[in-house]
Amino acid sequence: MYVKTIISILAIFLLLGFNQKGMTQTTIDKQQIIQEMDKELKNYGKIAHEIWGLAELGFLEDKSTQILQDHLKKEGFTIKTGVAGMPTAFVAEYGNGKPIIGLLAEYDALPDMSQAANPTKGANEAQKAAAGHACGHHLFGTGSMAAAIHVKNWLKKTGTAGTIRLYGTPAEEGGGGKVYMVRAGLFDDADAVLSWHPGDENNADAGSSLAAISIRFRFKGIAAHAAGAPWRGRSALDGVEAMNYMVNMMREHITPDSRIHYAILNGAKAPNIVPAFAEVAYIIRHPDMRECKAMIDRVILAANAAAMGTETEVSHEVITGYFNKLPNKTLAEVMHANLEIVGGVNYTETERQFATEIMTSYETKGKTPETAKKVKPLEVITKGMGGSTDVGDISWVRPTTGMRAATWVPGTVAHSWQAVAAGGTTIGHKGMMVAAKTLTLTALDLYQQPDKLIKAEAELLERRGGDFKYEALLGDRKPPLEYRKGAE
Ligand SMILES: [Zn+2]
Ligand SMILES: [Zn+2]
Repeated sequence: MYVKTIISILAIFLLLGFNQKGMTQTTIDKQQIIQEMDKELKNYGKIAHEIWGLAELGFLEDKSTQILQDHLKKEGFTIKTGVAGMPTAFVAEYGNGKPIIGLLAEYDALPDMSQAANPTKGANEAQKAAAGHACGHHLFGTGSMAAAIHVKNWLKKTGTAGTIRLYGTPAEEGGGGKVYMVRAGLFDDADAVLSWHPGDENNADAGSSLAAISIRFRFKGIAAHAAGAPWRGRSALDGVEAMNYMVNMMREHITPDSRIHYAILNGAKAPNIVPAFAEVAYIIRHPDMRECKAMIDRVILAANAAAMGTETEVSHEVITGYFNKLPNKTLAEVMHANLEIVGGVNYTETERQFATEIMTSYETKGKTPETAKKVKPLEVITKGMGGSTDVGDISWVRPTTGMRAATWVPGTVAHSWQAVAAGGTTIGHKGMMVAAKTLTLTALDLYQQPDKLIKAEAELLERRGGDFKYEALLGDRKPPLEYRKGAE
C-alpha cells in the first residue's frame, strides 16, 4: 500500500514535469481571456478605424501595413517585411518551435466606394471617395492582429512551446497577395492556418470556393484605312471576336459548374481604322483547380486559332490564379466550438437603431438585427460556388480554416456602401472582436491538442489527393504591384 502511494505520487510529479514543458494540459481559462479581450474593444476599434479612414488600395497599403507592424513590434513580435516581393506584405512572429499556428491579416480597400459611417444611402452617396473598406479588410487585419497579440500573451504567461505567426497579406482584391507568399514557401512550416472574414452572420466556415484564373489576351494586327485600303489591314478586333465566338461555342462542351466570363478591354477607337491592337480579359472558374487549369488550355487554343484565321498575332498574360478552397473539418470543428463559447454581436440601442435604418435600404430576406447575435450551425461544403479567394492556395498546402463574424448588419452584402458604413462603426468593431476572440481560443486549443493538428494534416492529404506538388496557377509572374495605381 505504502509503496503504491509513493509510485502514484512519483507518477503525478513526472506528469506535472512533462506538462510544464508545455506538451499538454495547461488549463485555458477561456472566460478570462474573453473578458480581457472585451476590455480591448476600444483600443482595437481605434486602430481599425484608422485603417478604415486610410482606405488604401491593393499593394498601396503603405500606411495600413505600417500601423499593424508598429503595433506588433511594440508587442514583442519579430517582423519580416516586404516578403515575397511585395513591399506591403509581412510576417510577424512570436514564440519558439512547434507547433506553428498562422493567422491571416488583410488590409486593402476597394476603389470607387462611399466612405461614410452613416446608415442612409444619400449620406453615403455624398461621400463618394476614391476608395472605401467595402470588404471590411480593416477589421480583418486588426482583428487577426488582436488575436496574434492575445495568443502571444498566453504563450508568454504559460511558458507553452509554440509559435504564433501573423501573415500580413496585401491586395486580396484582385492582386492575389497570398498566392505569392505560398509560392515563396512562407507557409511551408505552419502546422495550421486560421483565418476569418467580415460578414453579416457568425459562422465557422468549412466551405469551399471556386478556383479562378484571370488572363488577358492581346491581339496585334495591321492598321489601315477601313474604306481606302482595307485589304492592307488585319484587324486585331477580328481576332478577339473570333476567339470569343469559339469560346462561346465551347460553353456547350464544358461541365455545368464551370464559369467563363470576359470583357473586351480594348476594342477599336474608330470604325474607319482597321484596329492594330485589341485586348480581351477572361476569368475562368471551376470548383476544382485541376479542371480550371485544363479549361484554360482550351481557351488558349481558341485564341491561337483565332489569331491564325485572322492573320493576327496573339499573346497572353495570366493576371491572377486562385486555387479552390479545401475545407478542413477537423479545424472547423475546433473553431465552431470556440465561436459558440464567444457568441455573436449584441447591439446597444444606438447600434440597433443604425441597424434598423440601414436595413430599409436592402432586401433583408428574413434577417433581423437579432441575427447578429446568433451563431450558425457548422456546415461542411466541399464544392465551391460563387466567388474565389487567394486563401484557396494556402488551403492546399497547409490545413486551413476560417470563419465569418457579423461585422455588418444582417443582410448586408460585401462590396456595398452598407458594408463600408457598418465597418466604420462599433458594430464593425464588435464583430471584429468576435473573430479575434474565436481565433485566439482556437489557436490555444491547437497548442494543447497536437492530435488535432495531426488529424487536420491527414484530412488535408486525403482531400487534395496523392501526388500533389504546388504550382501556382499564375505561374512565375511577379506580383502586379501597380495594378491599382491611378485608382487611388
Ligand atoms: Zn472583397
Ligand atoms: Zn474580402
